[in-house]
Amino acid sequence: MKKKNISILGSTGSIGSQTLDVIRRNPNDYQVEGLTVNKSIEKLLEQINEFKPKSVAIFDDTAYQDFLDIVKTNQSTNPNLSQLEVYKGHEGLIKIASSKTIDILVTAVVGMIGLLPTVEAIKNSTTIALANKETLVTAGKIVMDLARQYKAKILPVDSEHSAIFQCLNGEDSNKIDKILLTASGGPFRGRPKEDLIKVSKSAALKHPNWSMGQKISIDSSTLMNKGLEVIEAKWLFDVEPEDIVVHVHPESIVHSMVQFEDSSVIAQLGCPDMRVPIQYALTYPKRIDSNFERLDLFKIASLNFEKPNLDTFPCLALAYRALKEGGSTATVLNAANEVLVEKFLADKIGFYDIPKYIEQAMDEHSFIDRPTLDDILATDAWTRDYIESILG
Ligand code: NDP
Ligand code: MG
Repeated sequence: MKKKNISILGSTGSIGSQTLDVIRRNPNDYQVEGLTVNKSIEKLLEQINEFKPKSVAIFDDTAYQDFLDIVKTNQSTNPNLSQLEVYKGHEGLIKIASSKTIDILVTAVVGMIGLLPTVEAIKNSTTIALANKETLVTAGKIVMDLARQYKAKILPVDSEHSAIFQCLNGEDSNKIDKILLTASGGPFRGRPKEDLIKVSKSAALKHPNWSMGQKISIDSSTLMNKGLEVIEAKWLFDVEPEDIVVHVHPESIVHSMVQFEDSSVIAQLGCPDMRVPIQYALTYPKRIDSNFERLDLFKIASLNFEKPNLDTFPCLALAYRALKEGGSTATVLNAANEVLVEKFLADKIGFYDIPKYIEQAMDEHSFIDRPTLDDILATDAWTRDYIESILG
């Protein structure tokens, strides 16, 4: 059988590296066509030497120039570099994503920077293995409408959405009663609000069950990650906000569930390992063998579920508000959150400044009921400027 051609936006990150591990384990099924990074050119070089892509893109300008120097110095001795196409910046990401020869684009960049490359790939009817949740949060309606128009499959990589997708396999999606979206609760589950006011970024980065990139780790600590996932679920599965019910489940074993109209609930379970949903997105509709850790329910013994505390974690309530308002509000929520997480990681603001300024931006923005792609880009830019103008 012909190998599938895969390109990865964000190949050096947590999801990108785990995608390459799945490919490494299945060399007869997949080959890598394009890889993109922001700055990690050393890691990119290792990936080039192992996976021999045809093209790469580097977002950061200095890193791009440094990389060109490396290519120039080494291309006569390294055959992996001699034919390599190297692109720069956002345009470079779009160039990699819009290649007509790729079968699956894995979107594993962090942030709405993934939006336009994903849109271009969809226009070629390329299958998208979607990890980059900010794309659907900021422009869910546009992306899903385009995917329908161009008959491009959007296969979820996020573990919860992969679980829901698997629960819906062979089911009639009209019969969904509720989506029961699980959440680990993050590192601050059960802690009172007073404890979290001065919480440090290193404490926020310590996720109990998953090892992930910095941005999603902070999002998990505020529960914004779950808020983004509620919005992502709305667009992927076309359910109303009140029918997406977050269940805090500290063991992260049940990855999510679907309740159907006859009252049956179907769940997908497994050890917390992102390579499982990544592999499923690559092999869909097939399953293939893996030696990933098997679930031992005797060892786990009990599974617990609790309601999220929206007072301690207001970001989740803000995401529901954005979803209910519709229009451009989720774009504001996402952009404000991206900027504020960066500021929290730079020790410039406190933990509760994140929801505070997101809410302020949502209140202040000029609402657009049916935003176009240009409206979304303008709203995103307005929000970033607005937050900068307050915080400097
Ligand atoms: P990481 O921070 O680990 O990796 C991000 C990747 O994107 C890196 O390759 C990085 O390159 C690249 N990148 C960052 N900024 C830019 C930019 N401006 N332009 C181009 N490339 C850029 O993130 P994760 O892998 O954790 O997350 C990726 C996405 O997947 C996010 O949307 C996240 O919410 C989602 N996701 C992640 C999960 C996880 O377990 N990690 C689970 C479910 C969803 P460089 O190395 O050079 O910085
Ligand atoms: Mg998730």
